[in-house]
Formats: sequence, C-alpha cells, structure tokens
Amino acid sequence: MPSVKQRIQSYFRFCPHCGSRSKLHRVHDTHELHCPKCGYTFWMNSKPTASALIIRNGKVLLTKRAISPFKGQWDIPGGFLDVHEDPITGLQREMHEELGIRVSKPKFLSVYVGMYPSTPPQSTLNLYYVVTKYTGTLKPQDDVAAFAWQSLRRLPKKLAFGNNRQALRDFVKMTKRNIV
Ligand SMILES: [Zn+2]
Repeated sequence: MPSVKQRIQSYFRFCPHCGSRSKLHRVHDTHELHCPKCGYTFWMNSKPTASALIIRNGKVLLTKRAISPFKGQWDIPGGFLDVHEDPITGLQREMHEELGIRVSKPKFLSVYVGMYPSTPPQSTLNLYYVVTKYTGTLKPQDDVAAFAWQSLRRLPKKLAFGNNRQALRDFVKMTKRNIV
C-alpha cells in the first residue's frame, strides 16, 4: 500500500523548473522528487486551509456545497490559503467570497491533517477558527449553495470532510470546559 506521499509523488514525473524527468532521491528516512539536471527538489507538503465555526445563539453556521467534492453536503465555510497568505487574512477573504460577510477577531481553535479528494489528491493542514463577530448580510455565493444555522447538539449525519466533525466535537468539548 503506497503512502500518501508516494501516491501524490506518482502524479509528478517532470521537474517543474526545467522539465527534465524527476527521480526519487533518498533524503534522511524518506524519498523526495529530485531533478538530476538542475538540482531542484520538489518537496511534498500539506496544503494549508482556514475554516470558521461561525457561532450565534448556540448554533453553528453550516454551508451547503455547490461544487465537487461532496457537492450537496453540509460543510464548514473555509478554503485553501493562497501562497504566503496570512491565515486570518485568508479566512476573512473566504468568508467574504462564500458568504458576503466581514468577520472580525477570529479565535484560533485547532489544527488537523486531512485529505482533499482531488486529482492528484491533496494532503491538507486544516486550521479552524471560532468567529462570533461579523458584519454584513449572509448571502451564499461562490461555491456555496445555501446556509443553515444548526444546533451544536444535533449535527447532520452527513458532513463533508472528517475534520469538520472533529473540529465541531472539539469545540463543544472546549465550550463545556469554558476554554473557548
Ligand atoms: Zn530540473
């Protein structure tokens, strides 16, 4: 069974810098894609994302996905960070793009490693924030089809991405212990 890294590496056969064929090169205890011609090493890393548990009156805002993967399933609003983008800036950008709101003072909750089922598959590093303050009127747009305020005590059976459920569970636990 190939590892996640081997699965992702199998999609990249040529050096992104000079176009020569890359080879697997041993580095410490693992293998990295390396170009014998120009010396470029194509490091495999998880891609960072930022998501927000938007909380109001004991309920969390869920969004319905308008696009694949998990089209039609409930989700937590968020998205991939751009290169060199501050996570909070990225979170605020995503909330504006998806919901038309301006969020302020997001509070860091937790971080998880996940998988995004694309081609090639992406390993993700998912940062979750808690948001209780925002301005503007909620209006689903971009890759969001609808939204709903959902009781934290009764979450939908189907929720896109395993990390979302984990973040909600951890938030509920921390709320009970007055940590958040
Ligand atoms: Zn090269």
